[in-house]
Amino acid sequence: METDIEKMPAEPEQEKPAAKKKPRKRRPKKPAVKAEAAVNAETAEEKQAAEETEKPEPKKREPKPVIIPEGFRDMDISEDVLRAIGRMGFEQPTEIQKKTIPLMMGGSDIIGIAPTGTGKTLAFGIPMLEYMDMKETELQELVLAPTRELAMQIGEELQKLAYYIKGLRIAVLYGGQPIKRQMEQLGKHPQIVVATPGRMLDHLERRNVSVRSVHTLVLDEADEMLNMGFVKDVCKIIDQTPPNRQFVMFSATTSQDVMTISWKYQYEPVQVTVEAVDENKPQITQYVIPSERQEKQERLTYLLDANVYERVMIFTDTKLMAHRVNAALQKGGFDSEELHGDIPQKKRSEIMRRYKHGKFPILVCTDVAARGIDVDDVEAVINYDLPNENEYYLHRIGRTGRAHKHGVAFTLMTYSESVRMDAILKYMKSEPTPLYFDDTGILRYEDGSAFFENI
Ligand code: ADP
Ligand code: MG
Repeated sequence: METDIEKMPAEPEQEKPAAKKKPRKRRPKKPAVKAEAAVNAETAEEKQAAEETEKPEPKKREPKPVIIPEGFRDMDISEDVLRAIGRMGFEQPTEIQKKTIPLMMGGSDIIGIAPTGTGKTLAFGIPMLEYMDMKETELQELVLAPTRELAMQIGEELQKLAYYIKGLRIAVLYGGQPIKRQMEQLGKHPQIVVATPGRMLDHLERRNVSVRSVHTLVLDEADEMLNMGFVKDVCKIIDQTPPNRQFVMFSATTSQDVMTISWKYQYEPVQVTVEAVDENKPQITQYVIPSERQEKQERLTYLLDANVYERVMIFTDTKLMAHRVNAALQKGGFDSEELHGDIPQKKRSEIMRRYKHGKFPILVCTDVAARGIDVDDVEAVINYDLPNENEYYLHRIGRTGRAHKHGVAFTLMTYSESVRMDAILKYMKSEPTPLYFDDTGILRYEDGSAFFENI
């Protein structure tokens, strides 16, 4: 209790940031490419009719037509971002996008709570691209993310969104890459930086970049970032931003640290929550398979041998175990790679890139290395060990079943792990299907029918 009281603000009113938001400058709107008749048309109906009937004269080297996603139309998003969304193949905003984009465009501070895979990157990425002064040379928008992989992924997603915006520069800063190369990026005066907190602070301390003109600050995977011991670094960075900047946080959960940072730095934050229900909920069938510890490698091999899943992620608890499991798989002739904190950064990026592009089918990884990673089409997740934190289980299995595809998650569980599993399932509020290996080593459902038809 005492500690709770200590955490309470002494004089909350006085410490709150200034009420007035800094005015943000919007990118000038480019006129949409329309037929002349449409531009001259008086009424909305005429306009629509003209647009539908008259197509612009076909020019030489006409760019591939991009379908403007109608679902994003009424969100005051500029034409070039809309076209980029269309180019990415999205038609409708996800629930978190529907809820947060208008709020963020309106300048609110936000805490967005949503499960993994619900499209949070675009939820903040779209408004970020709208408010940009293309003439400004100082950094305007900063996104902090917990891991290098995640920072890179956000950078890539923003690049795709900015496909039609000329002159937008995005720098991605993370540990493990030479500072010098990143200084070159910063020397080009990016409008947007995506960074891990440690490396960002490093650059700030070396005065390679300043955040004093930042008008939009985003913390992605805030719970994870603060959990990983970045609280101090994050605060030091936020302290250097202007008090009236817009501050948006995205998180899978509302942890104590998240709420503390919110109280300290956000102005009248609006909390937006998206539950993992039905249409948002990834379609994942979960299975548990009781196994002795020494049987796990063999069980794993069985699941992979079935050759049913083209892209598989295997999770272990420790780097050492990830290495061992991968070594055993490679020895057994599987095309697999390992991803964890002991692999040098350059190699990690390379492995991630190759896995994303389907160059090899099996990735063995630890939780931190895989957090937030968005790889399409992971068909199966296998929990070699149970994670220490309940939320990790959700994040692990959230690697599959993305974008409305169906995925499966297997958990190899020793007897002693079953207590942990119970706690996880209580947290997940879900019931996995139990499977078992019979005496001849065939995987079966409880009713005795074989799990894989082909073995
Ligand atoms: P989160 O950060 O919530 O875990 P991401 O932003 O990584 O989720 O998005 C998950 C996946 O969904 C990505 O592959 C992304 O490209 C895709 N996605 C994002 N927005 C949409 C949308 N409106 N429609 C369909 N897919 C989307
Ligand atoms: Mg994300």
